[in-house]
Amino acid sequence: MTKQELAVDVRGLVKRFGNKIAVNGVDIQLPKGQVWGFLGPNGSGKTTTIRMICGLLSTDEGSGHCLGFDIIKQAPQIRRLTGYMTQKFSFWNDLTIRENLDFVARLYALPKRRTVVDNTLEKLQLQHRQNQLAGQLSGGWKQRLALAAVTMHNPKLLLLDEPTAGVDPQARRDFWDEIHHLSASGLTVLVSTHYMDEAERCDKIVYLAHGQLITQGTVQDIISNAKLFTYKAIGEGVRLAAETLRAQPAVAHAAYFGSALHVSGYDQSALLSAIQSHTPNIHWQAVEPSLEDVFIALMDNAGQDKRSYQ
Ligand code: ADP
Ligand code: MG
Repeated sequence: MTKQELAVDVRGLVKRFGNKIAVNGVDIQLPKGQVWGFLGPNGSGKTTTIRMICGLLSTDEGSGHCLGFDIIKQAPQIRRLTGYMTQKFSFWNDLTIRENLDFVARLYALPKRRTVVDNTLEKLQLQHRQNQLAGQLSGGWKQRLALAAVTMHNPKLLLLDEPTAGVDPQARRDFWDEIHHLSASGLTVLVSTHYMDEAERCDKIVYLAHGQLITQGTVQDIISNAKLFTYKAIGEGVRLAAETLRAQPAVAHAAYFGSALHVSGYDQSALLSAIQSHTPNIHWQAVEPSLEDVFIALMDNAGQDKRSYQ
């Protein structure tokens, strides 16, 4: 892939806060027009990485380009072409919907502000509610409004930091339909999330733990690269089985998904004999590990967070 085809091309990003290493050598090569999911537990460095990519935070080490501009020397150019929705971003609840959009349009110094705001309201079909206070909108609507606001200046890249946290499932689906709609019109998107169904809607996933990139690829790549084996059981007996099985060395982890128990390990025959000998009355079925099974395993392998001591 040539440099021109990459919207984000950064290498070796490092960020320290005092003696804590928040991001410890992250590389991201995100092709134009794709939607990538950014995953990892809280504190793994997602927000810090996003802020370095768009030049809002200086890097301690590493370098690269975003939309063809140098992330260290050309941050203002990058910001003009980027829509960044910060974590927990919400509208000013005590301004009306129109006032909120107008305020963002002023921040970006958009020409023809009134027309741009009118068009955005129309696109969202919110003209009739433009004078309502934003605080009265549901969580899902606030996020749709926020997405519309960060795209008013026609950015080429969208950086969305947990945009759907705490939003109900239907509103999350609507939000993702909008992301795919924007992506179809040529935008590149990097979106952090904790939701597996959202991760599965991405072209690729990048997974961070303790400031380091642990794995990346399509859902299928990530599942097959993990080299994990999973057995699944459903029924009454499984409610109490997890604890016994977790104590077995062949079992990497046991996790409930609704009423099903997934038990995973790296040595298939050892795993099978452990589950058969400790839960003889349960019927187990070999299944492909889910993305969540893989992330639980990756987290376990990443171990304790030792960043403060480095
Ligand atoms: P994530 O977005 O994956 O939850 P963050 O990038 O917010 O992770 O944080 C990574 C680590 O860096 C965390 O341990 C966090 O406490 C620390 N951190 C982030 N921002 C700051 C800051 N401004 N000052 C000190 N520590 C910070
Ligand atoms: Mg964050």
